[in-house]
Amino acid sequence: MSFSRRHLLLSLLMLAALPALAQKARPLRVVASFSILADLLRNVGGDAVDVSALVGPDADAHVFEPSPTDAKRLADADLVVMNGLGFEGWMDRLVRSSGYRGPIMIASTGITPRRIGNEPDPHAWQDLAHARLYVLNILDALINIRPFDTAGFKQRATQYLARLTDLDAELRKVFAGIPKAQRRVITSHDAFGYFGDAYGIEFLSPQGMSTDSEASASAVARLVDQIRREGVRAVFVENITDPRLVERIAREGGVTLGGKLYSDALSKPGTEADTYLKLFAHNAKTIAGSLMTARIR
Ligand SMILES: [Zn+2]
Repeated sequence: MSFSRRHLLLSLLMLAALPALAQKARPLRVVASFSILADLLRNVGGDAVDVSALVGPDADAHVFEPSPTDAKRLADADLVVMNGLGFEGWMDRLVRSSGYRGPIMIASTGITPRRIGNEPDPHAWQDLAHARLYVLNILDALINIRPFDTAGFKQRATQYLARLTDLDAELRKVFAGIPKAQRRVITSHDAFGYFGDAYGIEFLSPQGMSTDSEASASAVARLVDQIRREGVRAVFVENITDPRLVERIAREGGVTLGGKLYSDALSKPGTEADTYLKLFAHNAKTIAGSLMTARIR
């Protein structure tokens, strides 16, 4: 092929590719409030999105204090995604100070929250059925902004939803094998109420739904008592909170800790709970393992 013919062919190919190129815009800049949402967004968005999380791995969103860098990140975003249900009390002020005027998507939209007193429990992601809703909300939001990527978004969401459903079915079988009376667990803060509702497990904790308040001495004493008298054996620290309080409760109750649960954040990249699916499977396996051992004793 002569140079000019090859040149012509290349030009034609480039012309043919032009509409595709025009549509292949830069990745959508999406800012998620915390690491778990960021992972769901990446699973649906693929390479059409560039996702960052304000509250990163192993960090606590309840007590997060945004920095000027965070405001800058928001200002440059195409989409902001948050959990809602009162989880990100700092978001309104951050949005105002950043000057961001784009869409803000509440991922928990459509979920009927469990309530403790008058407060909605924000930890809705601790139920795989709710995660399905999060994914569908994310899918809608991405399609709205990037309709020409609809096929890719839908394909990835469908695959991911199937993985959520499979894991849920597997876990239902695991927990069904554990006697109901045995299914009691102690963690640092009240983050697993939805998990408990889904699999019939009672979660007890010295702290309330947020980590921003101190545990009361009476709450601690009550838990120690429940370990000693009622035989609660499964006691866990969390990745986002100081382990010392729960360690003390376990020590005073005379039980060994059952390991670490991932409540409100993923673990660091390359470690055991660095995706939502890994986080959920790890928590379930750790809890079930501990409850089964408790039964044998
Ligand atoms: Zn929490």
